Amino acid sequence: MSLSLEQTLRQRLAERQSLNRYRERPIVQSPQSPDIRVNGQRLTAFCSNDYLGLANHPKVIEAFQQAANRYGVGSGASHLVCGHSDEHHKLEKELADFTGRERALLFSTGYMANLGAVNALIGRGDAVFEDRLNHASLLDAGLLSGARFQRFRHNDVAHLREQLQASDARHKLIVVDGVFSMDGDLAPLPELAQLTQEFDAWLMVDDAHGLGCLGATGAGCLEHFCLNEEQVPILMGTLGKAFGSFGAFVAGSETLIESLIQFARPYIYTTALPPAVAAATRAALRLVREEGERREHLQNLVQRFRAGAQSLGLELWPSVSAIQPIIVGDDARALRLTEALRRRGFWISAIRPPTVPEGTARLRVTLSAAHTEAQVDGLLEALVESWREVEGA
Ligand SMILES: *Cc1c(COP(=O)(O)O)cnc(C)c1O
Repeated sequence: MSLSLEQTLRQRLAERQSLNRYRERPIVQSPQSPDIRVNGQRLTAFCSNDYLGLANHPKVIEAFQQAANRYGVGSGASHLVCGHSDEHHKLEKELADFTGRERALLFSTGYMANLGAVNALIGRGDAVFEDRLNHASLLDAGLLSGARFQRFRHNDVAHLREQLQASDARHKLIVVDGVFSMDGDLAPLPELAQLTQEFDAWLMVDDAHGLGCLGATGAGCLEHFCLNEEQVPILMGTLGKAFGSFGAFVAGSETLIESLIQFARPYIYTTALPPAVAAATRAALRLVREEGERREHLQNLVQRFRAGAQSLGLELWPSVSAIQPIIVGDDARALRLTEALRRRGFWISAIRPPTVPEGTARLRVTLSAAHTEAQVDGLLEALVESWREVEGA
């Protein structure tokens, strides 16, 4: 006898609950900020991707309001019909300039940019090589493409080399996160760029967590490693993280961008972002470029957190980015730790499988230029107390 839809779903939900993997959505009642109001409680948040503290910046808000007065809210249609506004166009030019590339193309979300770019570039008869810890949107993009989908061990260049050597695919695309979203470590981009030369492969980097934060001018991982467009022809970035806004883009050559406009379905068949979102992002980009002190402060906080955590004996990942996970292992224990931290006034999210591999549940601590040193010190203290409490339980 077949189960009804309701019965089937209820079973699946119960199973997820029993695994301590049930996901919930805390309700936020204030702007994004280290001082956040959530479920009626004031907490100090260390879980947002608003790395530079721009999501609630007065200049970004003002740009958004002014553009809404001028352009209204909805963009009305896709970019190819009548939704491509002046604000979108100017933002694309400024992003191209920021990343030092000929052109940039806006997408509505990072998820769509990844699906769109990968699927416009490869298909059946090709092969795509992805780090095992790549963001879900990149893995989905590779699977959807119909190309032979190969995953290599995290940051293992030798493993990737073996896979490339054995491949007889027509086109080979290597795709990685620049900064791994749940781990905070960087991909070995210079070595990967070297491999692409050796094997006539193409390299795409998703720099969702590097742009704005890494590199002397905030231009991200490629600036950090001094890599040019020839070495990394396809650069993807998101605008909802360090830029404090919403949306995403791909930057590269004139030919790449024109190809995406013609062939990237998640670009073509969707409504353009509201023009006011593009205007707000332009204001955020100006702040990223003009206020390097935000990046410096963030880097200082990263150093302070790591030094403090190490002296307290907490197990850290080798990360230079704003993402500083503390590996816990067990799912239920990770949940108990976040609960103990919440009681001490701190909000940190427990990241569990399937978002991360089995047995590597973690507290994903993220730092922001909006945090103070005192808040970081307070977190370290609360971490130690919470650890003791949970261990003793
Ligand atoms: C957040 C993220 C995305 C998705 O971007 P959205 O704009 O939130 O859809 C893609 N890749 C990575 C590495 C991310 O962290």
